[in-house]
Amino acid sequence: MTSIWWIRRDIRLADNPALDSALKQGGVIPVFILDPQLLSHTAKIRQHFLFGGLAELDSELKKRGSGLVIRHGSPELALFNLLTSTGATTIYAEEDFTPYARDRDKKIAASLPLNLIHGQTVHHPAVVLKPDGKPYTVFTPFSKTWKALRPPTLNPLPAPNSFPVIQLPRSESLPGFDPSPLFPPGEIEALRRLEQFTMEPQRTRSKTQLNISDSVAKISEYDKNRNRLDLDGTSALSPYIRFGMISMRQAAHAALLPSPNGRAARDEGATTWLNELIWREFYISILYHFPHVAETAFHPALANIPWRNNPSEFDAWKHGQTGVPVVDAGMRQLLATGWMHNRARMIVASFLVKDLLVNWQWGERWFMDNLIDGDPAANNGGWQWTAGTGTDAAPYFRIFNPILQSQKFDPNGDYIRRWVPELAHLPAPEIHAPWEKNINVPGYPSKPIVDRAEARERTLRAYHLSKTLSGRPDS
Ligand code: FAD
Repeated sequence: MTSIWWIRRDIRLADNPALDSALKQGGVIPVFILDPQLLSHTAKIRQHFLFGGLAELDSELKKRGSGLVIRHGSPELALFNLLTSTGATTIYAEEDFTPYARDRDKKIAASLPLNLIHGQTVHHPAVVLKPDGKPYTVFTPFSKTWKALRPPTLNPLPAPNSFPVIQLPRSESLPGFDPSPLFPPGEIEALRRLEQFTMEPQRTRSKTQLNISDSVAKISEYDKNRNRLDLDGTSALSPYIRFGMISMRQAAHAALLPSPNGRAARDEGATTWLNELIWREFYISILYHFPHVAETAFHPALANIPWRNNPSEFDAWKHGQTGVPVVDAGMRQLLATGWMHNRARMIVASFLVKDLLVNWQWGERWFMDNLIDGDPAANNGGWQWTAGTGTDAAPYFRIFNPILQSQKFDPNGDYIRRWVPELAHLPAPEIHAPWEKNINVPGYPSKPIVDRAEARERTLRAYHLSKTLSGRPDS
């Protein structure tokens, strides 16, 4: 029997339950459909990453006696044509949880033999539930249940060595792509990064030549380094996870594996990293159970904040010209690389929403237009958290002070120096807020585009008004 393996956000051969199910039936036709409706909402940088990942998948499939079949157009029509022209009898696909994907799959399953297989998360969002069967809206209890549910068979599935020999239909062509040097696309790079992050470095040099941090896996220092803007302390796996070039199960498994130096369980660093993976699953679960968050605030009382939405201030934010060095560094890192450090994402998002009083959805859109890892669930969750409108959010009256954040998480100013070269000559004490010392740097705003004290009052008033108008002042 021949099946179609319809690839979507699972661009990998290892630990792929949908592929595994298809292979158990016999011959497999691996298909990726370039859906214009989805592509029109996909930033160029993510398109290039996707096309690169598909090109690599095709070459890995060819090494195994198969190949990738590309189709352009409506998935339903493409699948129907493939089923009729090849005689394949079933379609296997990894279940995707975005509202668009769920709607599309429901329609397709009504007319075609589509089998959705769980594989995008460690736990299906429909099973991580409160004892009363309702979905969680707070992270900590969600994570406790998530951990308690950890299946004993967490071991990821190996990549198949070969595919049954079958006649594949001719592929349409894949668009050309220009891969990002910082994020080379594909499963091989994803696995290399995971290994580099979680394994202790090879002791190729003699012990005396090693300094302490040389001998420790990056994951073990994650709890200490992850918030430091100036250090390379995180895994940089987000684009790979977003496109399923690596599975969440592979990542969680690596975090839970005993450390190679014999320690029985992973340390604080690995535990903290696992928690971040669970945040990802938390936001997937939120979008799954509360799809309205894609359109509006999770809390109805905060859906009608009277935003200022000043276009020139929004423009200054987008281009890293706000006059607040750490904010500008984050925004310029995004423009230059398509990626931004998590701490910087929180700082710039808070600045846009709470200091400039710009609708968080404008920021959400700008991130989706520019991030290589732009992901509907994680991005929406991050923005609503920062805006204080979402689940488990920071209370709306807690407003980040970007200068204190900058001093704490970029103590020597190296992150700012890297992304805002105009300020590179300033020493650490001055670089975080040059205007406070009357330092004027040609080519850089002489002071922030907003007065923080005024902005704070303005924001508190606006949030309060939204709550009062909604008739739910205490929610
Ligand atoms: P690591 O710190 O190594 O974490 C490992 C993985 O866990 C990440 O790759 C990611 O898949 C997941 N993860 C980590 N932190 C979070 C988090 N807070 N929420 C959800 N998942 C998390 N992440 C995206 O993948 N796509 C987005 O579009 C996105 N938008 C964001 C917008 C805002 C305003 C904020 C505050 C955060 C956003 N994040 C998003 C979460 C986080 O910033 C990135 O996942 C992280 O910076 C990626 O770097 P890393 O791979 O080195 O992460």
